[in-house]
Amino acid sequence: MKIIHKISQIREIIKDLNSSIGLVPTMGALHKGHASLIKKSVEDNDFTIVSVFVNPVQFGINEDFDKYPRTLQKDAQLCEKLGADVVFAPSVDEMYQDTKELTLVCPPYSAINKLCGKSRPGHFDGVATVVSKLFNITKCTRAYFGQKDAQQLFIIKKMVKDLNFDVEIVPCPIVREDDGLALSSRNSYLDENARKDALKLSAALKYSKELWQKGIRDKQTLCDSALKILGGLDVDYVEIVNPDTFEDWQENDKNALMLIAAKIPPVNTRLIDNMEL
Ligand code: AMP
Repeated sequence: MKIIHKISQIREIIKDLNSSIGLVPTMGALHKGHASLIKKSVEDNDFTIVSVFVNPVQFGINEDFDKYPRTLQKDAQLCEKLGADVVFAPSVDEMYQDTKELTLVCPPYSAINKLCGKSRPGHFDGVATVVSKLFNITKCTRAYFGQKDAQQLFIIKKMVKDLNFDVEIVPCPIVREDDGLALSSRNSYLDENARKDALKLSAALKYSKELWQKGIRDKQTLCDSALKILGGLDVDYVEIVNPDTFEDWQENDKNALMLIAAKIPPVNTRLIDNMEL
């Protein structure tokens, strides 16, 4: 399996491929969550490209772009084991000639003025832009995204529809550790105590789901119970949305998705998680 750094090389490889191409966009430091996307792509397509790119355009100035884990050789070994055909790992210069004078793909305000978009201004412009570039570079048939980043998935699906990208978006379920912690590359920042704190996110979601299953539909009660479990963390948001529209959940909506973002002390690792109630 090849690791490719140049856009021209990807173009050369796909030029003569007369087959379905699956793309798995990642920022690397691959774990079992990413592996599930790669496996699905290998199953569904003749050719699978895993992109590994820590995209500077989606990081805010005080975020962890510099310290984000970079483990390309290990990632490539996993991709090979899973049957991927190519790892596409461009440099920042290869992807962006100039990040300051860049044509951006900007999702609508209604989709980004809430949840992660609210505390991470510019984040989803960066995501939509890099994903558009990856679609154009790889000419993929299908692209695989985790439900772990539910708002991202919603925005990408909308972008594909609004801009007529000829790509099928395949949502993949959240992969968790046995104790419930959602796999994330940022979990590598957690020491033993922080990891215990991080478990509060999935515990809060699970408890809210139990309340929901007992028939509780009062939004305040559901969110307050979650917040109680999240005690001690710097909570960014606990929200319930309609998963089809990402509008605030209303009592006559049948389905509800609870989403949480919180920073875990002592180094303020920002984690997100969500669960359909
Ligand atoms: P990232 O490398 O964090 O940008 O993630 C790349 C892709 O993997 C995104 O589509 C994520 O939603 C997905 N992903 C990350 N963690 C998980 C997980 N625990 N379960 C399923 N998908 C995941």
